[in-house]
Amino acid sequence: MHTIRELDDTYVAHTYARFPVSITEGHGSIAIAEDGKEYIDLGSGIGVNLFGYCDRVWMEAVTSQLARVQHTSNLYYTGPCAQLAEALCTRTGMKKVFFCNSGAEANECAIKAARRYGQLHHGNDCSTMITLKDSFHGRTLTTLAATGQDHFHELFQPLTAGFVHAEANDLESVKRLVNDQVCGILMECVQGEGGVNVLSEAFVKGVRDLCDEKDLILIIDEVQTGNGRTGALYSFMNYGILPDAATTAKGIGGGLPIGAAMLGEKLQDIFTPGDNGSTFGGNPAVAAGALSNLNRLDDALFADVRRKSELIFSALNGAEGVKSISGMGLMIGIEPEFTTAREIARACLDEGVLVLTAGHNKVRLLPALNIPDELLIRALDVLKRAFAAGRE
Ligand SMILES: *Cc1c(COP(=O)(O)O)cnc(C)c1O
Repeated sequence: MHTIRELDDTYVAHTYARFPVSITEGHGSIAIAEDGKEYIDLGSGIGVNLFGYCDRVWMEAVTSQLARVQHTSNLYYTGPCAQLAEALCTRTGMKKVFFCNSGAEANECAIKAARRYGQLHHGNDCSTMITLKDSFHGRTLTTLAATGQDHFHELFQPLTAGFVHAEANDLESVKRLVNDQVCGILMECVQGEGGVNVLSEAFVKGVRDLCDEKDLILIIDEVQTGNGRTGALYSFMNYGILPDAATTAKGIGGGLPIGAAMLGEKLQDIFTPGDNGSTFGGNPAVAAGALSNLNRLDDALFADVRRKSELIFSALNGAEGVKSISGMGLMIGIEPEFTTAREIARACLDEGVLVLTAGHNKVRLLPALNIPDELLIRALDVLKRAFAAGRE
């Protein structure tokens, strides 16, 4: 008999530096490993398990749809897809939604839409996108090109052409890149993988104004920040702006693959049949689960996300071994003073707590939005000890 780990190491492509844990079960914010050890999960599958493992309400929405129709292809209409699109548009001010299966694909769709807009309104050469340094937009060749981190670019040249990178929180550096060939700007309001860097309100509003002035398409990547994560339905809502497109994935599906590119007023009629597509996009079972998730994301939940956020900030701000803490809502980055984020993650794992890491040596927390206070407080004690112990 081979262990899960042996099989995986033998047959699964080595694209991940996995921690030495096989998770076989979970409930709420507790993950249970093959050996029976229990972990408090502060990563929620990288912000995916919005209401934790095997949430009853979400499971019921998915399984009752599964028992009716699991898939039809996009040649036919299905209810959950249409209802989810309506809910997303009603709650965001967007006008149309394209469904796909991942964050990268959602960004690809939004980039395609921005390019079409540029070409139609400003000529065939208008196709360049400005993105930000330390951003992360996905792993396809185009979204890697969009990702403003050089180390992602080196291995797979040539990447898709037409992406240039400005400095986050530096409006002048964005303005310097604008010319007749630029069709839009793509950015995360809180950069996740890149180190949990929060964009300033002045910068985000400045970018919005610049896009209005130059007729550029502003796309906000809400793949990680979206769906209640930052204490608002989508992070752009914290800034009082409306983008021309917003993309989401991760948490909205609650654990099943889905991506969505939401298109605003300027882009709503940009696509005609055949311009984009996806075999699984808008899958009824996944969409039914996503709609159920969305319906639970209300003001009371956002207030609770912000309250828990304050609890985390006040526990860790100024704690021994914590050099800095950044983030918004339940998306938090903590920089260790004495050691590496990976070492902290290792130490937490030993003590039964799962955490993530991010760029610039950050420990990253993306707990389920409904994590019970009692588990959160226990996990924070473990984290505090791990940060303090890094000194040795
Ligand atoms: C995870 C992530 C992506 C990529 O999503 P996939 O579903 O892995 O393709 C894109 N943008 C941001 C901000 C992300 O956090």
